[in-house]
Amino acid sequence: MKSDDGVGPFLGVSLQDQIVAWQRWQKSGQRPELHSAVRTFDISPPEGGMFHVLGRVSLNRKWEDQERIQCNVCRIEHKFISDGYVASYDDDGFWYVIGPVCGSDEHQTAVAGAIREHKNREAEKVAEGIVADTMNNYSKWREYYYKLRNAVEIVFEYHNRFRKIAPNSLRALSNIRKSGGALRVVARDAGFNADIGRYQPAVTKTVGRLAGGDFFQGNCLAMKFLRDAVPILELYFADDKTKDDLGEAIYNAIESGKLQKLQNMLSGGFDALHRAHEQYEIACAGLNEANFKVLAKWTANPRNEAGLHIEYAVVEGEVTVHFLDDRPPLEYRGITSDDGYSILQIRQSELQTIDFLRLELRLAAAPAA
Ligand SMILES: [Zn+2]
Repeated sequence: MKSDDGVGPFLGVSLQDQIVAWQRWQKSGQRPELHSAVRTFDISPPEGGMFHVLGRVSLNRKWEDQERIQCNVCRIEHKFISDGYVASYDDDGFWYVIGPVCGSDEHQTAVAGAIREHKNREAEKVAEGIVADTMNNYSKWREYYYKLRNAVEIVFEYHNRFRKIAPNSLRALSNIRKSGGALRVVARDAGFNADIGRYQPAVTKTVGRLAGGDFFQGNCLAMKFLRDAVPILELYFADDKTKDDLGEAIYNAIESGKLQKLQNMLSGGFDALHRAHEQYEIACAGLNEANFKVLAKWTANPRNEAGLHIEYAVVEGEVTVHFLDDRPPLEYRGITSDDGYSILQIRQSELQTIDFLRLELRLAAAPAA
């Protein structure tokens, strides 16, 4: 028996309970039109009412009746075959069936909004692990991504300048990195020791250590990893993207059975972002004033094994490093000293510490028994 008068059976029932009721009905293998809460096709949804999608509906081959599904918006009895929605409205208590491309202009905006809300809700419910965390902490991840991207651009720029103005010094530092980063000086020369009657090799001692060694090589690793992360993360965090886009991607992945693929992709993106972050910190250590202080002291020692000569000065947080054995290439004459050695200026305030953002992995809540 079906009544289209008076108060709808779901008036005052929570949205979540209505969704559960709709899902139960769908599992029972019956047409939406047969549910007692669903309005007959000739009754339109309430105008301007707050609208909620309960779920999707498509023709099911198991239904006894294989007629097209009704649309309450068009008020047509046999309207569509697939991708429609069952919806409820606030302060109404009935359900309505809506075709996939239906509704007047203002109604369509409400429908689009409700469908988006429905997709986000479903995405949040089913998604787990990385996908769920990205969804739950969308704005945090977005902010982290942008902060890191800007920070890596800065060290990339320093790396480029370093590589261009002081290639010999960069190479020398790279060799020190390869041999473990120890800054050694000769403590005793090699030679014949008359007291013991034999030849003795040279003895060196370590007086310091190169910080941020990985920064001093041919490529900027922070940028290398960032470039791996960007094509993936831009899909969800680009300027024109919102949490709704991610929700929709998750929803579509669920519908098409590709959730695992999406998880692997996001996982790869965040992994590359974290590697870029690690390399950013290494670059900051390499460009830090303290590092050049140690290097300057070491290279000034006549018994060093450096093969390079560095001096440095600090004025108001700006470190000026002089690479005394690097002749500047012609095009960099503009930023070299009269003595013909290269200068790198590093503004320490540009090298900000960024807090690591970790994934808060959790499993999706088990469905209530
Ligand atoms: Zn319609």
